[in-house]
Amino acid sequence: MAACLAVTRCAAVPVAARRGPLVSCRRWSGASADTVYDVVVSGGGLVGAAMACALGHDIHFRDKKILLIEAGPKKVLEKLSDTYSNRVSSISPGSATLLSSFGAWDHVCNMRYRAFRRMQVWDACSEALIMFDKDNLDDMGYIVENDVLMHALTRQLEAVSDRVTVLYRSKAVGYTWPCPFSVADSSPWVQVTLGDGSTLQTKLLVGADGHNSVVRQAAGIRNVSWNYDQSAVVATLHLSEATENNVAWQRFLPSGPIALLPLSDTLSSLVWSTSHDHAAELVHMDEEEFVDAVNSAFWSDANHTDLIDSAGALMQHALVLLRPARVSARQLPPSVARVDAKSRVLFPLGWGHAAEDAAHRVHPLAGQGVNMGFGDVSSLVQHLSSAAFNGKDLGSMSHLTGYETERQRHNTSLLAATDLLKRLYSTQATPLVLLRTWGLQATNAVAPLKEQIMAFASK
Ligand SMILES: Cc1cc2nc3c(=O)[nH]c(=O)nc-3n(C[C@H](O)[C@H](O)[C@H](O)COP(=O)(O)OP(=O)(O)OC[C@H]3O[C@@H](n4cnc5c(N)ncnc54)[C@H](O)[C@@H]3O)c2cc1C
Repeated sequence: MAACLAVTRCAAVPVAARRGPLVSCRRWSGASADTVYDVVVSGGGLVGAAMACALGHDIHFRDKKILLIEAGPKKVLEKLSDTYSNRVSSISPGSATLLSSFGAWDHVCNMRYRAFRRMQVWDACSEALIMFDKDNLDDMGYIVENDVLMHALTRQLEAVSDRVTVLYRSKAVGYTWPCPFSVADSSPWVQVTLGDGSTLQTKLLVGADGHNSVVRQAAGIRNVSWNYDQSAVVATLHLSEATENNVAWQRFLPSGPIALLPLSDTLSSLVWSTSHDHAAELVHMDEEEFVDAVNSAFWSDANHTDLIDSAGALMQHALVLLRPARVSARQLPPSVARVDAKSRVLFPLGWGHAAEDAAHRVHPLAGQGVNMGFGDVSSLVQHLSSAAFNGKDLGSMSHLTGYETERQRHNTSLLAATDLLKRLYSTQATPLVLLRTWGLQATNAVAPLKEQIMAFASK
């Protein structure tokens, strides 16, 4: 049976699109020049490249033919620029483990990344905060430039070029699924048509072609999605003074969350989600005004009210009495002195989730987009590897369903939680501010709960 499985971007959720079991289908007898691949990955961004790399390095795939199709050019960094890129990702320990499993993390370590050991998340409408840290000061995650990640993956694809063919600057323009009822001149495999008119076939198609996935659409996978009323402004910021800079900071403003992610002792990366109009203003304002706006967003208490402050103080007092050792004190984020010229760019934000199988898009507030995609890769490769080891059909739904169930469980919870947080913190209505203030304070005081959240996010 042929099947298509799409792994799409932004908190990527795997999606298996199925076509019914093939009844009396014969092998393709027409275009005999068509090559049949065991796996074709359509889309060679971070997630698709990781998928092809992981399969290429898997011992049970050593006799398989794998193809990666990428519309864009090959991306390698001949020399690491002194200037940091404004596109960075927060990489979870689980994602770093996946990248290590096929050697890509070594390239990242030899180039540039910053570990963070704590994360402070706090509300702009109250004193409530949550501090995530580990007793043993283990790394909670890593901030890595997307270019560095892409370079590392490209190098590891080159290392398995005997097993993985990569077509750069090549666009997949059409996918044809085998017809389950046709008995003649029909192929049991998925046919992929490229922009130059050539075709190829595959036993398994993996869609990693971004949040507007054509694979998902062609497979007819239902998708629930919406655009948020927000854009994210990213920029590279220079801190006022050198610090240990190993904390990831995120403050929920009524207009959206603002995050400061460490890059070096003196640099941090900004991700500020806010209304489209405000985002456009932030991108165009002069540098000094922009730096003032960033500092004020992290430091100002203009959104506090006496009522919420008093209620929060009461709760804090009660928690300190109940669990004196457990309540973390608020720490102050570093102040910003300057912004890298031309590093300010905005991205419109959205949410999406495939109703069956996978494909997702998530708000960056949880820093989970690419981590969900890497989690999908890790799970899918495990299922496919065991199918290959057992000599099973790679496109069989039996192991694809196992993968789907596993990832839906994880991704659906994460998508729902992220969307809920986005909505809960978008309001200044007093009862809701009070509710989230007490909720955050209580969560901060319950160490096992925080550990569970950290374990979930670190996958
Ligand atoms: C502001 C912002 C901040 C973020 N921060 C984080 C973070 O801290 N942590 C995190 O985990 N995630 C983060 N994300 C999300 C993360 O960047 C994305 O999840 C991730 O880049 C998605 O990678 P991808 O490979 O799935 O998709 P994409 O990057 O969209 O790649 C898709 C690829 O498919 C190719 N393609 C498309 N169509 C075709 C076709 N027909 N044929 C051939 N090739 C095709 C494209 O050329 C592209 O290379 C953030 C996102 C934003 C916008």
